[in-house]
Amino acid sequence: LPGIYLHIPFCRKACSYCDFFFVTQLKRKGPLVEAMAAEIALRSGFAGGGPATSLYLGGGTPSLLGEAELRLLYEAVNQFFPLLADAEITLEANPDDLSPDYLRMLAATGVRRLSIGIQSWREEDLRAFNRSHSREQGFAAYAAARAAGFANISLDLMYGLPGLGLGGWEENLRITLDLRPEHLSVYALTVEEKTALAHQLRQGRVQIPEDESYAAQFLLAHERLTAAGYEHYELSNYALPGFRARHNSSYWQGQPYLGIGPSAHSFDGERRSWNAAHLEHYLRALGEGRLPPGGEEALGSRERYHEHLMTGLRTAEGASLALLEELLPGFAARFAPQIAQLSGQGLLRQDQGRLRLSPQGWLLSDAIIADFFIG
Ligand code: SF4
Repeated sequence: LPGIYLHIPFCRKACSYCDFFFVTQLKRKGPLVEAMAAEIALRSGFAGGGPATSLYLGGGTPSLLGEAELRLLYEAVNQFFPLLADAEITLEANPDDLSPDYLRMLAATGVRRLSIGIQSWREEDLRAFNRSHSREQGFAAYAAARAAGFANISLDLMYGLPGLGLGGWEENLRITLDLRPEHLSVYALTVEEKTALAHQLRQGRVQIPEDESYAAQFLLAHERLTAAGYEHYELSNYALPGFRARHNSSYWQGQPYLGIGPSAHSFDGERRSWNAAHLEHYLRALGEGRLPPGGEEALGSRERYHEHLMTGLRTAEGASLALLEELLPGFAARFAPQIAQLSGQGLLRQDQGRLRLSPQGWLLSDAIIADFFIG
């Protein structure tokens, strides 16, 4: 089994833009970890079982887990899906949790890769978003992680923030490049319904930038980061050579993964399934020895075709023409005019049996991908 994802749905505070599933009642953390260990056991034969090549603790805020909780989850994973000796083991962390003692504990319990939610180096952005950390805590966390021996660190950054502007974004990139993390996830701020940010926007209390401003910031990141030696290997992801995220890459390559915890999704190679985003229902079901409520859908060739377009065209590897042709016989002939037009505009390239978007194409990827969809 390539990857296991553990969703830890707790946060200290709600960031204003976030629509992930999380709760702030930290006292439910212990019972949840026990329920997740039970879910791992119940899913032991998933996709044929067997060893796992990556483990990803995401959330929410996995850096709220204590040592005993982390060890319990590891033991459950290792019992049913033994982690290979060189498995990629990532933990998402918020800077304010990363004290030197906590980092030493993480390293001792087997975490090898840290993904730190920096988002911005500007104090005003962190405050505006109700982030739980300060700029200084961001720097301190990064230095402490290096001092604790972490040699594979990813930072999350966001662009398109209210009031950031091209100059502010350039400064955030410059500070980040001085630190030289092995990996960067660079996301555009999106306004999701039912978030505090959406509410502030409706009330006119914040303004988000125009599309052109997002585009300029995306292209500036591409230019600065690739010039500094980072590979822009997926729409939102950059890595120094040898440091692409293996766990996420397996999603994009359509390999099976098992997601554990409330709201987690899984894919066994044929069916996509998910757990309901509800903490109490999750705890109750596992307390009774049952799998948590959720849903599933089988992926037919039409869904797999759409899926390959959506994931493939967002990666530097591109989408495989042979696979698209297999999933949709006649693909090349049917879409030859679109492919020629997009190629002429410098948005798409066809080479070595693959279709790849250029950085300008990535900017328009939602619209371009939708053009290839079938009804
Ligand atoms: S810490 Fe992460 S998961 Fe939690 S609210 Fe903030 S962005 Fe969302």
